Amino acid sequence: METADAVVIGAGIFGTSIAFQLAKRGAGRVVLVDRSGPASGNSGRTFGQVRRHYSNELTIRLANRGFEVLRDWSEEVGVGDPGYVRLGYLLMVPSGSVEACMGNVELGRSLGVDTTFVTPEEIAGIEPLVVLDGVAGASYEPDGGFVDVTKMILSWLAAGIGRGLSPMLGSAVTAIDADGDRVLGVRTEHGAIRSPIVVDAAGVWGPALVEPLGVRLPISFIRLRMARLRQLASGPLLRTAVTNAAGGLVMRPDRGPLALAAVYEDEVPSAQPPDLDRADDPAFEGLVRRALAQRVPAYADAAWEGTVSGIYDATPDWHPIIGWAPGMEGLYLALGWSGHGLKLAPAVGEVVADEILGREPLIDVSALRAERFEEGRLMRLAYGPGARA
Ligand SMILES: Cc1cc2nc3c(=O)[nH]c(=O)nc-3n(C[C@H](O)[C@H](O)[C@H](O)COP(=O)(O)OP(=O)(O)OC[C@H]3O[C@@H](n4cnc5c(N)ncnc54)[C@H](O)[C@@H]3O)c2cc1C
Repeated sequence: METADAVVIGAGIFGTSIAFQLAKRGAGRVVLVDRSGPASGNSGRTFGQVRRHYSNELTIRLANRGFEVLRDWSEEVGVGDPGYVRLGYLLMVPSGSVEACMGNVELGRSLGVDTTFVTPEEIAGIEPLVVLDGVAGASYEPDGGFVDVTKMILSWLAAGIGRGLSPMLGSAVTAIDADGDRVLGVRTEHGAIRSPIVVDAAGVWGPALVEPLGVRLPISFIRLRMARLRQLASGPLLRTAVTNAAGGLVMRPDRGPLALAAVYEDEVPSAQPPDLDRADDPAFEGLVRRALAQRVPAYADAAWEGTVSGIYDATPDWHPIIGWAPGMEGLYLALGWSGHGLKLAPAVGEVVADEILGREPLIDVSALRAERFEEGRLMRLAYGPGARA
């Protein structure tokens, strides 16, 4: 039987960040197990947008630290780069959400975020392609943009190997072993690994792995589809990442004439993750084109390059679960990212590694423990339930 000092399940953005930070701290042999390859889950299907507009201090602090790591990647990671593209980020709100938006802007500013509340006239100066009907204002963050999540994951992997990180790819974890209320390790398709620490970072598939141990997590699953668009050669190019809270269109430029657009559909949350892949269908294309025609008409006739389908793992307060599993010593949970977690991943890796090693983390994440739901201590959401968080 193989042995490890820690096993991390899932080579998505969270598992890899955590495994890298454990290795960086000299945690010994850290085995990162994935049933497929790096970034093969939702991390390979994300919108990739980064911003720091949030409703509470803890999440802003995690996002702030995430930005520092993106900026100082060579120093912090030493291998590769995060593919960060600075576009500016606009969250456009209707009149009913102006107060919430201004409150978040104020909170962000008090924590060092470069952000302002802008009027419709100012929005038009920042991003001339958006139609402003029903928009009362926006929060604007010049540093918002997107990252290349696959690059981040591969960079962390490369930096971790040689410091004790040992990837075990193409091998599914079939069970987490425990003796009473203590984990013993994991069983995989290719044998067992004995380890005093097991981190469940298996994304939307993570809750099912801990359920046999009596750990039940209030996470439901929602599909989100995104359109990949190519602007026509003669068309003007969007230059800012735009979220339209007054309608539901989320859009950002990608490289060159490419763009990504998501529209929230009326998906009913499910108790089990749906299949990751879902074929294109004309109804989705129609939905996206109608939203574009209303809000960014310059892209209404953009070429349709395809659909990317992903799954949100949503908790009741749309914030993640980070912490030791209640009642199971040695089992650590990093799940429930609720559609907005990726920008938190660099900081989460550091915090989780410190907690596992018994060190005081840079940011106190105890408000994100799984127990908060039963205790009624939910995280604050200025805009109500949703990935806007
Ligand atoms: C469509 C979409 C758009 C998003 N847009 C944004 C955004 O713009 N900004 C933002 O901040 N966040 C965004 N998010 C959220 C963020 O991208 C995800 O929360 C994040 O990528 C999830 O990472 P993960 O590591 O938890 O999961 P995953 O990337 O899914 O990784 C989990 C891994 O676990 C592996 N695995 C599963 N079961 C097993 C098993 N039994 N044994 C071994 N391995 C297993 C899988 O193969 C997978 O590689 C978005 C999410 C989605 C779905």
